[in-house]
Amino acid sequence: MAKELKCADVGMDCGFVARAESTEALLEKVVAHAAEEHGIDEITPDLHAKVTAVIRDVPEA
Ligand SMILES: [Zn+2]
Repeated sequence: MAKELKCADVGMDCGFVARAESTEALLEKVVAHAAEEHGIDEITPDLHAKVTAVIRDVPEA
C-alpha cells in the first residue's frame, strides 16, 4: 500500500497531494512541502499528530 496525504486535510487551503511508498518517505515530502509552500519550518508535536492522522492508504499506481 502506498501512502497519501492531502494538504487540504490538514486544514490548508492548498491542492498539494503527497504520495510515497512509506509513511517515513511521505512525511519527508510533506515536511519539505510545508517549509517551501507554507513557511512552516518546525513540525510541532501537535502538527505531526494532525498530519499522521490524515495519512491514508492508497492502492499502488
Ligand atoms: Zn500545502
